[in-house]
Amino acid sequence: MSLLEVTDLTAGYGGRDVLHGISMTVEKGDVVVVLGANGAGKTTTMRALAGLIGRRGSVTVDGRPLGRRPDEIVRQGISLVPQGRGTLDISVLDNLRVGAAVRKDQKGIAADIDRWCEVFPVLARRAHQKAGTLSGGEQQMLAVARALMSRPTLLLCDEPSLGLAPIVVQELFATLAEINRTDGTALLIVEQNAELAMDIANTVYLLEVGTIAAEGPVERFREDDTVRGAYLGY
Ligand code: ATP
Repeated sequence: MSLLEVTDLTAGYGGRDVLHGISMTVEKGDVVVVLGANGAGKTTTMRALAGLIGRRGSVTVDGRPLGRRPDEIVRQGISLVPQGRGTLDISVLDNLRVGAAVRKDQKGIAADIDRWCEVFPVLARRAHQKAGTLSGGEQQMLAVARALMSRPTLLLCDEPSLGLAPIVVQELFATLAEINRTDGTALLIVEQNAELAMDIANTVYLLEVGTIAAEGPVERFREDDTVRGAYLGY
């Protein structure tokens, strides 16, 4: 059974559809990247899956219907790293605690805070600072760590590279790949940086004005000149 099965997903804003019936599958432990131009509907897809906007169509997690409320969805093991990070201007530690709001196991929460502070040492160094005082890259790491605090089986990452220096982006993607390898956390990543995302992905979906224009294993997108020329622009 697939971890996430999306069939005919439609969503939009104020009665205007942006997604026109998209279907995609994420298997357990997969790294899936959704590529697409500005305005294709990538963020809308993530927001619909996280319950931040309404949706039509069928979405199942481990064979069960996806909930409607964001907190229900987090409890089902799906956690979003939103575009623009969305860190709160409270301390780094408190941001991490917010990420664990659906959990009650205080010891486990404390252990996970320690773990992510080890993986992202800057979070330990700045534990008591307000998130707003962190650099963009540091805030992105905090946003990822916060999302991981709910112990998701699927992490949704909306343009994690946006506005970050190349070296920081490389480090972040390496860490995401490592988390996927060690914990088996599946990743669904929306990215404009196709090259980088394809380095860690096994499956690619191409989104064009609200529909899936192509999909397949990452090798096909790297090696097929027609696909590359038509969709990736290199
Ligand atoms: P980008 O890389 O620019 O974020 P995207 O693929 O993520 O692009 P979306 O943000 O999903 O695209 O936007 C898809 C369409 O939905 C665009 O036409 C956009 O103008 C529209 N849209 C996005 N957010 C809203 C909103 N809050 N209200 C109304 N329309 C919106």
